[in-house]
Amino acid sequence: MTSQERKQQGDGETPLRRQYLQIKARYPDAVVLFRMGDFYETFDEDARVAARELQITLTSREMGKGQRVPLAGIPYHSLEGHLARLVQRGHRVAICEQLSDPAAGKGLVDRDVVRVVTPGTLVEPGLLHERANNYLAALVLGDEEAGLAYADITTSEFATTQLSLPALAAELERLDPAELLAPKGQAQVSDRPATPLEPSLFDALMARETLLEHFQTATLEAYGCEGLPLAAGAAGALLAYLQDNQRDALAQLPGLHTYSTQRYMALDRQTRRNLELFQGGRFGTGQSLLGMLDMTRTPMGGRTLRRWLGQPLLDLEELERRLGAVDWFHRSGVRREQALRLLHDVPDLERLVNRVRGGIALPREVLALRRGLELVPAMQEAVSPGPSDEEGEGAAWLVEELRPCREVADLVASALEEEPATGLGEGGVVRRGFSPELDELRAAAGSAREYIAGLERRERERTGISSLKVGYNRVFGYYLEVTRPHLERVPPDYMRRQTLVNGERFITPELKEHESRILNAQERMAELEGTLFRQVCRQIADEAPRILATAAALGLTDVFASLAEVAVRNGYVRPVLTDGTVLEIRDGRHPVVERSLPAGSFVPNDTTLGEGHGSLAIITGPNMSGKSTYIRQVALIVLMAQMGSFVPAQSARVGLVDRVFTRVGLQDDLTTGQSTFMVEMVETAAILHHATPRSLVVLDEIGRGTSTYDGMAIARAVAEHLHSHPSLGCKTLFATHYHELTRMAGHLPRARNYNVAVAEEGGQVVFLRRIVPGGADKSYGVHVARLAGLPRPVVSRAWELLEELEEESGGGKGGARGRRGRKDGGQLALFQPGDSSLLRELEGLDISTMTPVEALNKLYEMQQRAR
Ligand code: ADP
Repeated sequence: MTSQERKQQGDGETPLRRQYLQIKARYPDAVVLFRMGDFYETFDEDARVAARELQITLTSREMGKGQRVPLAGIPYHSLEGHLARLVQRGHRVAICEQLSDPAAGKGLVDRDVVRVVTPGTLVEPGLLHERANNYLAALVLGDEEAGLAYADITTSEFATTQLSLPALAAELERLDPAELLAPKGQAQVSDRPATPLEPSLFDALMARETLLEHFQTATLEAYGCEGLPLAAGAAGALLAYLQDNQRDALAQLPGLHTYSTQRYMALDRQTRRNLELFQGGRFGTGQSLLGMLDMTRTPMGGRTLRRWLGQPLLDLEELERRLGAVDWFHRSGVRREQALRLLHDVPDLERLVNRVRGGIALPREVLALRRGLELVPAMQEAVSPGPSDEEGEGAAWLVEELRPCREVADLVASALEEEPATGLGEGGVVRRGFSPELDELRAAAGSAREYIAGLERRERERTGISSLKVGYNRVFGYYLEVTRPHLERVPPDYMRRQTLVNGERFITPELKEHESRILNAQERMAELEGTLFRQVCRQIADEAPRILATAAALGLTDVFASLAEVAVRNGYVRPVLTDGTVLEIRDGRHPVVERSLPAGSFVPNDTTLGEGHGSLAIITGPNMSGKSTYIRQVALIVLMAQMGSFVPAQSARVGLVDRVFTRVGLQDDLTTGQSTFMVEMVETAAILHHATPRSLVVLDEIGRGTSTYDGMAIARAVAEHLHSHPSLGCKTLFATHYHELTRMAGHLPRARNYNVAVAEEGGQVVFLRRIVPGGADKSYGVHVARLAGLPRPVVSRAWELLEELEEESGGGKGGARGRRGRKDGGQLALFQPGDSSLLRELEGLDISTMTPVEALNKLYEMQQRAR
């Protein structure tokens, strides 16, 4: 605030108030933080909001005759914390800065909003999650498709896609944008609220213009979204939003990448949750798969790994490349150690270079950037092929991608001090020898300071006052201080400036002359240092694309080396990927549960599914026997393989899976009632609609949320559909405690029964955690009751009742009595010998090429034979 601004208060509506109101009018839906000197002030309703949300004092201030305005302010240096709070509470915050120097100008200081901070446009390191991207996304819905664009202005990622409406929810789930933009009035997708924008911004033509202008090109060909109006619409609207809210960030988005979700495996929300990919909680370990796999050392590596897990690949070639690199690190502890040690010291180059480019980097951040770049040559060395490596193997391709950017490192090394001051303007940022002009100023200030330092001794000698002192304060600058008893001896050229209780302070023309030399030099030094620093930053910014490419390569190296490290520590193997449909796992383990148990106590299990091995595995077994763990472990192994990681098994052959679906029936919570069952069914319906023959479906206790018979009937119908529907037949793992479902295997040719083995040891029931062929022993509960010592007559009565119940439900063969006998070694007959030729024939039918009449005739013929 200038003195002028201060004076003008009180006569009419002050110019300051007018300036504020004009600015506020342009940002009606944001809290405006209005910079006035060392404070950001809020006024009127904004002040009330700020006072409430930030717990700061609400006062008022005279801003014109009879106008008292509510006011609440925060000191400028505590902006970040307050910003975080406001944004987290859902407010948009417009930051209005002083654009002209208050000291220089006489009238009103120029002010304007430099950025509007929203959850998707944060750049403050303290407000961002280091190991996750912070996405701003824009979504526009068409009739059959949608356009979805997203950007992270701190890492320069900017991408767009046009995708089918059913694929949308999973993609939004993957991105989990901090802020979503949508045309005003557009229906909400999932439960994500959106920031409404003018619909015309999403218009294909208008958006195209915005994009062309931003990229300074004549077509969008190079960006891949020419001819994708919705994708271009979303990307254009996103840019337009940044233009309005954070102009400086536009430079951070120099390119656009158009992608197709079909290249990746879609993971819906339930699947991410059920498999605990990003958040743990089940099994009481709190560990997620990501937490377990993430041994990366750099933020870039952490973000890359998170992206990979959210976006498993369907591309065999790319997966082999990733696995090859992991394998290369896996083979040598020396390489891993070397790479990980170097990575440990690599800073967040992506975000640093963007802070430099955005003009908000601090001197020590630029220094950190240099330190990071200086490690690159050693990193290149670390990923170079060794003498025993074959050509093109392993991680050698990374050498090309890691660019040392030596000039940038050298520039910073020559320009900045090794330990620069925190801020600009105090000196101590730019290195001696970088700018002759700066060095001259420094010398001038230095000699003037030396002169003043020597002055105390000289004046003491001249005046004979031994207690004479040279001092400095902000108001009077340098002065000579003489205590009261010696005042008579003060020479005539001393000019009195200030009287104290026991002395007086003087200046001399000579002193003032040197003082102004120091002050002048200091001022010019601060200015020059700022200019030089910004110049260096601009030069670095010109190299941003190369630095970003290097940062990405460092992230990749980090992911490869740490996936290899995880594999070594936990005994994982490289999976064999194929484009067939068979999934074959030997001695598979659940990567997270395994770690929560004492070493070696996790029981590994095999899995074989697909072509000729059955596609529907029905797994029965008592509660807590390990069913859920088993079916999830299969899904996790597939996911890990398709992100390019080694897997917890002896060996694994994975025919690429296009989608993993998981659904978990309600747990033993009967109080939740009908509506949750509805949710369970809606989710199940989604699988039946979207699964393909290449999908993997994991169903855990589906149908539990309703009465036993309903539940059983639904569960069975779902399983049959997945098994037999011509366009499905996908690999399905179905864990259930409905023993009746094992009967399905009798007439569904590709269904197989498995159960979790249970043993009796010394009167105790022991879960062996081994998955073995065959249905579970249904009477297990009664066995337990017997072991637990229920009186003999009660146990016998229980057997009787069980049998009755089974007969009622129509379960003849293999009932309780049969199984009671089986305990002595009998096997449950799953297939009737007579069925098999019919079944084989049925299995061989290609229904998709038959006419309905042919199908009917075939069915009739087969029924005749069966009879
Ligand atoms: P279910 O789904 O049959 O009720 P869970 O899969 O939830 O059973 O497993 C119950 C517990 O058994 C798990 O928390 C885990 O500690 C243990 N467990 C499961 N599978 C194994 C295994 N293969 N080896 C060792 N312990 C296991």
